[in-house]
Amino acid sequence: MLLRRDLLRMLGLSAALPSLAAAERAVDVAETRRPVVISTWTFGEAANAAAWDVLADGGAALDAVEAGARVPEADPDNHSVGLGGYPDRDGRVTLDASIMDHAGNLGAVACLEDVVHAVSVARRVMEKTPHVLLVGEGALGFALAEGFPRQNLLTPAAEHAWREWLQTARYAPQPNIERSNRYSLPDALPGGERNHDTIGILALDRGGHLAGACTTSGMAFKLHGRVGDSPISGAGLFVDGEVGAASATGVGEECLRVCGSHTVVELMRQGRSPEQACREAVERIARRHRTPRKDLQMAFVALSADGRHGGYSLQPGFAYAVRTSAGTRQVEAPSLT
Ligand code: ASP
Repeated sequence: MLLRRDLLRMLGLSAALPSLAAAERAVDVAETRRPVVISTWTFGEAANAAAWDVLADGGAALDAVEAGARVPEADPDNHSVGLGGYPDRDGRVTLDASIMDHAGNLGAVACLEDVVHAVSVARRVMEKTPHVLLVGEGALGFALAEGFPRQNLLTPAAEHAWREWLQTARYAPQPNIERSNRYSLPDALPGGERNHDTIGILALDRGGHLAGACTTSGMAFKLHGRVGDSPISGAGLFVDGEVGAASATGVGEECLRVCGSHTVVELMRQGRSPEQACREAVERIARRHRTPRKDLQMAFVALSADGRHGGYSLQPGFAYAVRTSAGTRQVEAPSLT
């Protein structure tokens, strides 16, 4: 724990603080917030559990977010991430993913086919290349050269949904409005309903380091070659070790236009709480549309460097999962409409 005089010196607030006891309490609260991990959507709970195994052992936030993101990637019943993700309109499953640490190290892949753990390929890009982002065939070639196994990601259920979608071939992303556990919902949605989601996972480890990861199969039935916000630095994910981390889910094009996650982190830098920062980024997206768009969903989650978290969405129905030493819970985020 920081000594009282250290805290006062750090803050430069010795005269302004109401009482020393209050200052000490603030430090205590901040310390009990570590470690913490948060993830988008209710399916983030399973990802958080895997991340928590790393964090509770004193492991690094970077290892925790990778371990967490790999859980929905490997889950064939999750149709928006990794194995079993809905394909593009040509029937090809293409994955986008990114990972970033407190020091600004970053790796990403976009439009990656045939490799389930896109987040781990992204980490390999970060650690083994001088680059930040590899796409398409280049990303696949790199992954195979690194020893990642090649596998078909199109499951029978996802192929069935795609073939049904082909009957109308109407591309119409709909907001995700469910409040209950996604796995209890009916499966696929040829009309375009619930055809996107992403896992964005942010962690603060015991040592005070932040990291984040983001992985998705993107918008179902998208044009082949379409890349969303998830692998793009500052859009689907951004981490600043001194300020906080943010991640996004929803219609990626909207997020890309406002550099959503970077905006959230910059707003936290200016003193906004995580929730307020997420709200202002959502408002920025909403302002672009003269009339409110009921067909759009966009949501952010944020984790500050001192362990506070928040989320906010455009439409109701966005929830995120939180894991701390106090246990696991889901938080229904407030929304603009
Ligand atoms: N943001 C993702 C994308 O546009 C999808 C989602 O999170 O719902 O690819």
